[in-house]
Amino acid sequence: MRLHNLPSEFQEALPILEKIKQAGFEAYFVGGSVRDAILGRPIHDVDIASSSYPEETKAIFPRTIDVGIEHGTVLVLEDHGEYEITTFRTEDVYVDYRRPSQVAFVRSLEEDLKRRDFTVNAFALDEEARIIDKFDGLRDLETKTLRAVGTATERFNEDALRIMRGFRFAASLEFSIEEATFEAMKETAPLLEKISVERIFIEFDKLLLAKGWRRGMEALIASKAYDYLPDLKRKEEQLTAFLASLTEDFVFQTSEQAWAMLIVYLEMKDAKSFLKHWKTSNDFQRTVIKLVEIYHLRKQHSVTKQTCYRYGKELLYLVEEVRQAQGLAVEYGLIDAIDEALTIHDKHEIVVKGGDVMAAFQLKPGPLLGRLLNAVEAAIVEGDLVNEVAPIMAFLKEKIENE
Ligand code: ATP
Ligand code: MG
Repeated sequence: MRLHNLPSEFQEALPILEKIKQAGFEAYFVGGSVRDAILGRPIHDVDIASSSYPEETKAIFPRTIDVGIEHGTVLVLEDHGEYEITTFRTEDVYVDYRRPSQVAFVRSLEEDLKRRDFTVNAFALDEEARIIDKFDGLRDLETKTLRAVGTATERFNEDALRIMRGFRFAASLEFSIEEATFEAMKETAPLLEKISVERIFIEFDKLLLAKGWRRGMEALIASKAYDYLPDLKRKEEQLTAFLASLTEDFVFQTSEQAWAMLIVYLEMKDAKSFLKHWKTSNDFQRTVIKLVEIYHLRKQHSVTKQTCYRYGKELLYLVEEVRQAQGLAVEYGLIDAIDEALTIHDKHEIVVKGGDVMAAFQLKPGPLLGRLLNAVEAAIVEGDLVNEVAPIMAFLKEKIENE
């Protein structure tokens, strides 16, 4: 079969394939971009596989960077873009279920396609837009089926990350997982404990952000693979509640929003340690924790000037979106109005600084100074105090006298 309209991303990369071929090697487009092109979906990165060994690839192109030479990947820099070119390879010897202990470069495309995870990820596309489909991936695309290449159990045993990728692709492609593939995912799920949490996080995060996240979650729950993921052991009930919690068409807008809701439904007392176990960044943790706080706060209260100032409109909106999907009352209008009326959005905007207060009232740094500055901030936010030197100083004088 031929791809009728070769997307522009591939067209632009055609000279690369041609140069490799002129040097006497084979080269194809491979991986997710081929799958997405056949599906008519937007294409991310165009990956190229070639029979040339890394040193041979480097000899063809004037500008290259070794990005993953041990896996056979060379980055080629061209005027119109960058392309990863990976030598055909097999991954045959796995000792720790994570990483092939040995990557063998080969000259055969078929060998390379065999080591790929799912049939719909194992296409190659040549320079004439012919699709090479060794594992009936086209049929699986047609029937929206996610199927492991070859013997499923073996493939998940080789690299257990593929189990997580399976849930992720079920979500992002909105495909059903073929029975033998799913059985193998179930069976090999304990191996997930051997995979680095960072890599699992990436796949789980992609799952949550996908339009079809419910499908991915359903499969994950049905497989009981959650038992082998950080802090999700025996959380079937909570995960099921999470799945049932939001309207049918709801899609998470950001990772932080998705993880915050996961934490809410898991009834995690200690969100921080949960997010640490998932090895997320401090920035990510901070935002997720704020969202969880806002979520709980909104169960009791309307948005106030103080909450709007403290958390900012953007995070409040993310929680309102969730509330809307839960069929709860929302306050977008109120948030907008409060936000617009706020005279400051950050404490650095206060015209009187800590140093000024210390000098004017002969104060040293300490709890009193902290209390005074907080009181000024709160009063300005509340609209009870104008953000100008004279009124702030008068306000402080009175406070100090009453201390
Ligand atoms: P996305 O659209 O999210 O980028 P993708 O299919 O391109 O999805 P990548 O993680 O970018 O996925 O990997 C590119 C290709 O490399 C895959 O399509 C697949 O053929 C192969 N691949 C990636 N990871 C694995 C793995 N763990 N086991 C086997 N093959 C893999
Ligand atoms: Mg990709």
